[in-house]
Amino acid sequence: MSTVADRKVVSFHYTLTDDDGEVIDSSEGDLPLEYLHGADNIVPGLERALLGKKVGDKLDVQVEPKDGYGERDDRAVHHVRRGQLPADMPVQVGMQLGAQDPRGGDPIPAWITEVNGDEVTLDFNHPLAGVRLNFAVEITSIREASAEELDHGHPHGPDGHH
Ligand code: ZN
Repeated sequence: MSTVADRKVVSFHYTLTDDDGEVIDSSEGDLPLEYLHGADNIVPGLERALLGKKVGDKLDVQVEPKDGYGERDDRAVHHVRRGQLPADMPVQVGMQLGAQDPRGGDPIPAWITEVNGDEVTLDFNHPLAGVRLNFAVEITSIREASAEELDHGHPHGPDGHH
């Protein structure tokens, strides 16, 4: 029977809760989440726990922030003026935007955490940074990845692509 390993596409159902038991995210009522093992598609702590498991396995995995979305860094919180943001961009608490890195490259994700008059607070921490993640997982399928999936570093869904 095949087990979770590198170069396998793995599907699983999950419910993610914080330490207070609040559900942060869940695949319930939706398709299972599919990922390519060994390609950093999911948080490292969860990926490590799934290694060697098989279809039908159910597991509870507790992931510390350092193996999840990282520790919170207070220096990653920035205050900008509304005018420094594109005029046509709606500015609302909870919105995610991509800030251009002055050194070039891909935009860096930031979240608007406060709007106070003309001042906007941008938090470059992931909203789940510093949060211990409690996953309840059930593995639903394991298959070999295609050459194209290995090349792209992520699984392709039933429609063939993304
Ligand atoms: Zn692709």
